Amino acid sequence: MLVRNSELENAVASVKELEERFNKHYGYSWLFLNEVPFTDEFKGNMSSVVSGSLSFGLIPPEHWYQPEWIDEEKATASRNQMVAENVIYGGSVSYRNMCRFNSGFFYHHPLVQKYKWYWRVEPGVHFTCNIESDPFVYMEDNNKIYGWTISPHEWPKTVTTLWDAVKEFVDQNPQYVAANNSMNYLSADGGNTYNMCHFWSNFEIANMEFWRGEAYSKFFDHLESKGGFYYERWGDAPVHSIGAGLFAPKDQIHFFDNIGYQHDPLQHCPRNAAVRRAMKCSCKPFRSYDYRGESCLRKWERVMKTP
Ligand code: GDP
Ligand code: MN
Repeated sequence: MLVRNSELENAVASVKELEERFNKHYGYSWLFLNEVPFTDEFKGNMSSVVSGSLSFGLIPPEHWYQPEWIDEEKATASRNQMVAENVIYGGSVSYRNMCRFNSGFFYHHPLVQKYKWYWRVEPGVHFTCNIESDPFVYMEDNNKIYGWTISPHEWPKTVTTLWDAVKEFVDQNPQYVAANNSMNYLSADGGNTYNMCHFWSNFEIANMEFWRGEAYSKFFDHLESKGGFYYERWGDAPVHSIGAGLFAPKDQIHFFDNIGYQHDPLQHCPRNAAVRRAMKCSCKPFRSYDYRGESCLRKWERVMKTP
């Protein structure tokens, strides 16, 4: 969990729910990261709610703060423009630091090095069903690299030139594009334009060997060189989704239908009524984002069904 000291209460609430619904049976370790040291209060409160071990890491400044070579005048102008256009977090530098860190740095943190798998958890989220089979084991046994629960559209104004950068990278490095990729989930015209579909990255269960691998590493470096994390407001969700969607085959990406998950204002509730009963779900299926017109889930399922 990447989290601020000020979010302690919501962070504890998320941890407690995931412990109760899942981790008390498994005892997986928790790891908390922050660009400033965690307070003793944060560490103390957190230690009393987890079943497994826990650790607290400090993010190296070069993984977090805006790099020197970014043209601050250009970045400021873009933030002001986004504020004028009411883009969510449009004026925030710290939000941009967070998106860049989640896109290309968290899996290089010294405390994360020894792990292959992670489950990203945020403060204030809800796990609305019991999770009785181990998603990490499922991913490992089925050769998956990325798992998700909610698939919305990105705000176009945050990623104006992201797809141009993607196309440029793919043109220069066609060898990294997987056969049987998810291009048709990301684009309605065979890759000419981006349709804004992505996996909502506040929930992710994924294999860091993929992020650390050659294709994604070079992809991230290419995006970083464009400065779009600061000149625009590229989110880690579209960046991860495009990376996994193009450089891994689509059958290595998994929709966790049976995990009930809520990050306001959106939630996913398992579609199968027998699962909801067996897993003691507290969610209401009619509130599930899956059935909303804006959800990219139907597109995903169509793409998965097409050979
Ligand atoms: P949203 O879900 O897009 O509204 O963004 P959040 O505010 O939930 O931020 C995403 C994640 O990054 C959450 O886990 C936050 O706790 C964390 N986060 C966001 N900004 C900062 C920051 O400046 N410092 C730290 N340490 N964590 C942050
Ligand atoms: Mn959030």
